[in-house]
Amino acid sequence: MTINRRVFLTGLAAAPAAAAAAGTAGSAFAAEGAATAAPVLHSFTLGDARVTVLLDGHLPLGTQLFNGYEAAKAEQVLAQGLHRLQNDALQIPVNGYLVERAGQTLLIDTGTAQLMGPGLGALGAGLAAAGVAPEAIDTVLLTHIHPDHAGGLIAADGSAVFANAELVAAQREWDFWHDDAILAGVPESSRGFFEMARRSVAPYADRLKLLQGETEAVPGFTALELPGHTPGHTGFMLDAGGEGLLFWGDLIHSTALQFALPEWTIAFDTDPAQTVQTRRQMLDRAAADNLLVTGAHLDFPALGRVLRQGEAFAYQAAPWQFGL
Ligand SMILES: [Zn+2]
Repeated sequence: MTINRRVFLTGLAAAPAAAAAAGTAGSAFAAEGAATAAPVLHSFTLGDARVTVLLDGHLPLGTQLFNGYEAAKAEQVLAQGLHRLQNDALQIPVNGYLVERAGQTLLIDTGTAQLMGPGLGALGAGLAAAGVAPEAIDTVLLTHIHPDHAGGLIAADGSAVFANAELVAAQREWDFWHDDAILAGVPESSRGFFEMARRSVAPYADRLKLLQGETEAVPGFTALELPGHTPGHTGFMLDAGGEGLLFWGDLIHSTALQFALPEWTIAFDTDPAQTVQTRRQMLDRAAADNLLVTGAHLDFPALGRVLRQGEAFAYQAAPWQFGL
């Protein structure tokens, strides 16, 4: 099946509250991307690792998707950060990562492939531009099983893109999307999401590693439970020989708004209250420990740190030449 943006919006609403919100959100994702996305990538060295941020493309995120959106507040925050709305939407990037270390050639999330329109799907081209063939990937870490993260696992015919990769995800995430009882209870409009999730991971079922709680995902990467956006939403902390980098998945969807306004969840957060609690805890920790962070929807090249700002937060982007 084809997952267009409307399906993406309604299909992500697995929880009743989110379903209600999504039902009123209408055409939250604006017009289709204008052109096929070209490869865009940014590489840097961190300790013993070479990290490449692979831009899959941009998604228009309509303002009506935010729970509690207030135009006046948003305008003030956007102006402070030099962000701007286009057709009442924010353009948010979809990022994935290539991490190369001795003995590891690993991806964190896989982009949208063909699932979400012509303005996205460039992650594979970015990987090729980095000189890495899909067959060379030995591990894929998934932060969660949404189409902008897991879509790139499979080709249009449903076969595995990464023929030699072990797939690593949280047990709780896997169980959620494969639970027939949960599927039976979600609105008809959400079913496509479960079908997409199952289809994208199916060819990896015999080379799967499912994680329980905070644990070593693979050597050098510790899985952190960040529930809320989805039940098994997971971050990965890389220890690259003394230098750390936190890949926090979808802890933040909008760099422009959600550091300053961390209570603003979006319609496709499965559990909004838990999303806010997790976000505050993780942002607090990132600020207190001065962590280097990156995220799937942080503004490209998506590398920086978190600053405390009263009851809220701010994002400080790392200089472009960081770690060159
Ligand atoms: Zn996402």
